[in-house]
Amino acid sequence: MEVLLIVVFTILGMAIASFLNVCIDRLPRNQSLLFPPSHCPACEHRLAPKDLIPVFSYLRLRGRCRYCRAPIPRRLLGMEIGIGALFPLLYWHYDYQLSAELGIIAYYCCLFIVIFAIDWEHGLILNKITYPAMIAAVLIRVFRPESVDIFQMGNSLVSFPPIAQAAIGGAVGFGIALLVVVLSRGGMGFGDVKLAALMGLVIGFPLIFFSLILAAILGGIVAVILLLRKKKRGKEAIPFGPALAVAAIVTLIWPNIPGWYLGLF
Ligand SMILES: [Zn+2]
Repeated sequence: MEVLLIVVFTILGMAIASFLNVCIDRLPRNQSLLFPPSHCPACEHRLAPKDLIPVFSYLRLRGRCRYCRAPIPRRLLGMEIGIGALFPLLYWHYDYQLSAELGIIAYYCCLFIVIFAIDWEHGLILNKITYPAMIAAVLIRVFRPESVDIFQMGNSLVSFPPIAQAAIGGAVGFGIALLVVVLSRGGMGFGDVKLAALMGLVIGFPLIFFSLILAAILGGIVAVILLLRKKKRGKEAIPFGPALAVAAIVTLIWPNIPGWYLGLF
């Protein structure tokens, strides 16, 4: 049964990744997700089902369009392999338990992966993703408060109800990010502030502090690497948005890192 579900989750992950690739390509350009059907961005040839099989089509075509030989972005393959591996790993991580919580954590991972990719490629954090995600995060806290415990995010440090943790977390994320925007004078944008608020709603208080610190460390490391390789990414030197998104995923999957770290002393 478990082996069968691992196969199912791998295929499901690759299929969802295909759809998320469409979202990443089209949402920043204000294009519909449904129309027109999938086509090559270079020659506009409509893609046949045999061109759209996750992972296999890319490998079979050696990363090039069947019709015009234009290279297909490697991100398409990366997403399909990455999420195809992530879903069964989450199933394993949560002790092979099938639950609404497994769906919720998979949804959150996909959400932050899409935010990561759009910000990395376009330097944009879209309101049409952030706002609905905020509403969904609140609804999940209200209607599935037990999900917080499954993620071990009940937070032994505080005994607030889950919705209060979310509200305070959202306010903390918003407030700290806004402070950074004001102090850095344009080094970080308001898209990042809304993303930090979303993270607070998802992760809650006090874990949001860990997430923000982790994001600052990750952002700093990537900024140094980009600086050393002398790659300029537009106006902003530090990719805050992608760092926030990665920190959110790490915090969701391993919320006990801060407790483990504090236990070292
Ligand atoms: Zn083509």
